[in-house]
Amino acid sequence: MELRDTDRALVQAATAVAKLRCRSQNHTVASAARTPDGRVFTGVNVHHDTGGTCAEVIVVGTAATQGVTGLETLVTVADRGRAVVPPCGRCLRLLGDYFPSLRVIVGPVDDLRVVPVAELPPVAPSAVAG
Ligand SMILES: [Zn+2]
Repeated sequence: MELRDTDRALVQAATAVAKLRCRSQNHTVASAARTPDGRVFTGVNVHHDTGGTCAEVIVVGTAATQGVTGLETLVTVADRGRAVVPPCGRCLRLLGDYFPSLRVIVGPVDDLRVVPVAELPPVAPSAVAG
């Protein structure tokens, strides 16, 4: 699927958070999600030897904290210019269970596309969070 202007804005939001907030080994990935009515929630991962938590999960919790239970589109951007990364396998399961019609932005910066969450192949957590 082609990106909409709102999708590009979501990539910019996640990129801005990654640049501003992912400046240590504790926070290396930022995620942004948009609701059907246009609200945007962002979050960063929390890395720790005990396992930590992915940015996507933080975004889901942040939205829920504000009473939002429906997310339409999500993108995750890694720090240090690593650009858009797909959610890990654990997050894909969570996102698919919570938001079956979620659209996920993936791909290289010059060829980003939108894929339904159910169509994304699972990726090992270590391949994404590093
Ligand atoms: Zn994850």
